[in-house]
Amino acid sequence: MEFIILAEVFKKMEETSKRLELTKLLVDLFEKTPHELISKIVYLIQGKLRPDFEGIELGVGEKLAIKAISKSSGIPIKRIEEDYRKVGDLGHAASIVLEQKTQTTFVVEDITIERVYDTLYKIATLDGPRSQDMKMKYISSLLNDANPLEARFILKILLGILRLGIAENTVMDALAAAYTGTKENRALLEKAYNVSSDLGKVAEVTAKKGLDGIKTFQVTVFNPIRPMLAERVKSEKEAMEKMGNKFAAEYKLDGERAQIHVKSNAVKLFSRSLEDITRHYPDIVEKIPKNLKVNDAILEAEVVAINEDSGEYLPFQELMHRRRKYKIEKAVSEYPITVNFFDLLYLDGKSCLEVEYTKRREMLQKILSENEFAKLVPMTVVQNDNEIEDFLENSINSGCEGLMLKMLDASYKAGARGNSWLKLKREYKNELGDSIDLIVIGAFFGRGRRTGKYGTLLLASYDDQNDTFPSICKVGTGFTDEDLDQLYQLLQDKVTLKKNPRIDSEMEADVWLEPELVLEIMASEITLSPIHKTAMNAIRKNSGLALRFPKFTGKLRLEKTPEDASTTQEIIALYKGQRKVIQNQKQI
Ligand code: AMP
Repeated sequence: MEFIILAEVFKKMEETSKRLELTKLLVDLFEKTPHELISKIVYLIQGKLRPDFEGIELGVGEKLAIKAISKSSGIPIKRIEEDYRKVGDLGHAASIVLEQKTQTTFVVEDITIERVYDTLYKIATLDGPRSQDMKMKYISSLLNDANPLEARFILKILLGILRLGIAENTVMDALAAAYTGTKENRALLEKAYNVSSDLGKVAEVTAKKGLDGIKTFQVTVFNPIRPMLAERVKSEKEAMEKMGNKFAAEYKLDGERAQIHVKSNAVKLFSRSLEDITRHYPDIVEKIPKNLKVNDAILEAEVVAINEDSGEYLPFQELMHRRRKYKIEKAVSEYPITVNFFDLLYLDGKSCLEVEYTKRREMLQKILSENEFAKLVPMTVVQNDNEIEDFLENSINSGCEGLMLKMLDASYKAGARGNSWLKLKREYKNELGDSIDLIVIGAFFGRGRRTGKYGTLLLASYDDQNDTFPSICKVGTGFTDEDLDQLYQLLQDKVTLKKNPRIDSEMEADVWLEPELVLEIMASEITLSPIHKTAMNAIRKNSGLALRFPKFTGKLRLEKTPEDASTTQEIIALYKGQRKVIQNQKQI
């Protein structure tokens, strides 16, 4: 299939922000795609080559790309850099440069999607001393045969800046419509995606085998499962309203969630966002098989840094030292951990997702031999608010964040946030002093000491019903100079020319950002706002909700995806809770 077909669809996608139009463009594209190509197209649309957990990254730098453009066009590097500076996007600059190409080349080979994909794949997997030269050769040979529009998108994918703003849900809507006749079948596709975490594979099976194929998706070891998430509650009372009067309470530890896959003695670990984090924890790989009486299994645990002398849990930040690229062994001895198991998703050839919580916990207890390194998360069954309060107290005293409350008869709902798991943190009881996790969607340049950096950020909550990011406030306080430097660096590669269609905001930011980074924010109050879009019309017509006096707490939530940020529903609940408190205060 010709790459130009895809390039033209990409161009149209860049020009629209409407989800329905994006879905329609995708449906049309899928309908003309040969089945054996569908997975590649689905990855490319997301600017990827393979599912995230395989860790295949293009990692081509701008310098190398500019050299390759120069080589294939005969135009000097300086001029390309000038164009780049003017338009601010190297893909776009390349298409301008190629329009003025001085070298007359003849097309050696057609640019097909297969060729682009295969070449990009080679570039991503090249290693070794001569890899930079080889990468340049591959890129310039593609550019040599590409027309300006094709070159623009090839470069965007290569540099990791293809941002079409297409959510996974939109892709699944379009797959269901194109191959099963109706969008309504999305839920079945989503189920397959939840156990495989591989949208390309879901697409290929849907195209080739339809719904019968989709129903055969199975949990497989070394293929991560999308994690189950918890809804937050503010009080014991609210938990009991949602769960009835008998449920499990577990300590909520403050560490990194790890999905641990074991087969014989081979171990792989995946983070909450399904990144392969095996190499950061060689101690888990070495020790955990000895703690488990299994052939193969998938388990979930919270990895927590500890003080080995006192046995105390240490805050989450300590674990981030394990994230370094080199000298991991040194980090392992300097930052010891414990692995605290809380769930079992697969055991000896069988999925446990449909098994109820009580039974899963029982099975987990049976297969785990506990020691200093590997433990079961403390759990008790609670039946009234005093029991919850006591257990919460114990948990906080042990250095934990609060409690996870789990329905006794609930199955494991992969990829879903629902009422079968609730989280109760101590701080939530203090309504107005609550902290929430928000997504950075835009930025404003700073003045004075902050010149050349962003001085204020525009933040959004996550609207999980519409799958959008509605704005909620601007924040400019709580940042140290180091924070501002670090944020500027972190946000540089998230800058987009066009507002991502999932962003819902009427503000005019200096720069729009890909909604990826999550920050922890405190605020004094939640108020009605005619400007911000969070919970628009939910409380009052033509009003949304905004934070009053927002302040950065200093915590970057790097382990969170934007879909893990505080949801619009949670903000509404906080707003209502806060009003109750104010009313009660007035009555006194
Ligand atoms: P939050 O990050 O506030 O949304 O809380 C959910 C996170 O709590 C999970 O992703 C886990 O990393 C963590 N967690 C800590 N203890 C538990 C537990 N006992 N059960 C489930 N998750 C837990």
